Amino acid sequence: MDTTLTDPYATSESPINLRDLGRVRVLRALTEKPQLSRAELVRQTGLARSTVGSVIFDLISAGLVRESADAGATGARTGRPPQLLSLEPDAAYALGLDVGHDHVRAILTDVVGTTRWDQSEALAVDGDPERTLNTAVNLIDRAIEDVGVRREKILGLGLGIASPVDMSNGQLHAEGIMPGWVGVRPTDELADRTGLTVRIINDANAGVLAERRFGAARGCANVVYLRLSSGIGAGVVCDGRMLLGYSGLAGELGHVIVDPTGTLCRCGNRGCLETVASPPAIAELLTRSWGRPVSGADLADLLLAGDRGTLRAVEDAGNAVGRALAATVMVLNPELIVVGGDLVTAGEALFEPMRRTLSRNTMISHTRTRIVPSTLGDSAGVRGAATMVLDDVPERLGLDPPPAT
Ligand SMILES: [Zn+2]
Repeated sequence: MDTTLTDPYATSESPINLRDLGRVRVLRALTEKPQLSRAELVRQTGLARSTVGSVIFDLISAGLVRESADAGATGARTGRPPQLLSLEPDAAYALGLDVGHDHVRAILTDVVGTTRWDQSEALAVDGDPERTLNTAVNLIDRAIEDVGVRREKILGLGLGIASPVDMSNGQLHAEGIMPGWVGVRPTDELADRTGLTVRIINDANAGVLAERRFGAARGCANVVYLRLSSGIGAGVVCDGRMLLGYSGLAGELGHVIVDPTGTLCRCGNRGCLETVASPPAIAELLTRSWGRPVSGADLADLLLAGDRGTLRAVEDAGNAVGRALAATVMVLNPELIVVGGDLVTAGEALFEPMRRTLSRNTMISHTRTRIVPSTLGDSAGVRGAATMVLDDVPERLGLDPPPAT
C-alpha cells in the first residue's frame, strides 16, 4: 500500500509519509504520558488500531520503545498480563546547560528526562564569556565520557542563560545584564566547539518549561514561573504556549520599577524589582545598615536565627514582588505562580507578604491564582534547558531515529 501523501503546500521533494506521522504521534503520546497500553495509544493518537500496531513494531525494532507487563495490573484473569508501552530511556539523550551570573552547570539526561549526570562550577560569568564557554565545554565532555554515551545519540544541547535572549535568532540582549557578552553568540560558539545542535533560552523561560514537565506546574496551561536569584525574571506560559513577545523578551519582571526613587539598577533604570528583591540586593541593604559585609549566602542563616533586620528586608522584598505580580496576574490571569531561585529558601518570611500584597492589589475575581514554591529548586533552569531538547523528541526520533546500539 502506498502510504505517501503529497502536501499541496510542500514541494514535490518533501512528501508527508503517513508512517512517519504515525511514529511522531505515538512518540508524542508516550512523551506526554510515560506508560500507555495499545488501546490507550489508539485513543490518544486517533490512529487506526492496525496502524498503531505496525508503528509500535517499527519503534520497538528501532530500539525507541519498549513493551513490558503492567506491574500494577491485578485480578484473577489468566493469560498474558496487560502490556504497557513506554519510551526506551537510553534511546537518546539531551544535554542541558545553565549559565548564571556566578556559575555554569551542566546535566545529561536520558530521553525521558531522568538526570544521569549533573555538575556545576562556580565562576564569575558576566565579564568573561571565553572562560565560561570553555568551562561549559569541559563539563559537557566530562558528562558524555562519564555516562559513556555515543555523541550521535545526543539530540542536542539546550543552553539556559541569565540574560534576555531572542530565541528566534539566538541573540542576547546582554547590555547592562552580562556586560562581557554583548555581541557574543553563545549558540554558534558552543555548536562550533561541541559539534552539537544548540538551542538557547532565557533561564526563567527554562524554569517554566521544567516546572510544567517535571515540577510544580504539571498539567497547568496558564502558569508564571518567577525566578528570584541574583537576577530576577519570569517565564510565562499562556493557554499552553510560552509567551515570548515581539522580540522574545517577555517576562522581564526583574526590571519592572517598584520604587521610582530607589537604587540604581544595573539595567540603567532606578528602583527595579531586582534592586529590592534579589538576595544580593537584600545583602547590600544589610551591609550598609550594619557596616560589615553580608552576602546573599548568609541570608538563610540570618533568617534561621530570627534576625529582625533580615526578616524586615525579606518582608519588604515579598511585598515588592507581590505588587509586581499583581499587575502580572491582572494582565495574564494565570492559574499558578511558581516561585523559584535562591530567595525561596526564605520560606514563609517571603511567601506570606507576597501572597498578602498580591491579594490586596488584585480584583477579587483574580485572587484564585495560587503561589507555590518551585519543586525543582535550583535545578529548574538546567532541567528546563534540557527540556527544550526533549520537547522535540517525537519529531526527532520519529522522523530521523538515531543509530540503535
Ligand atoms: Zn533594572
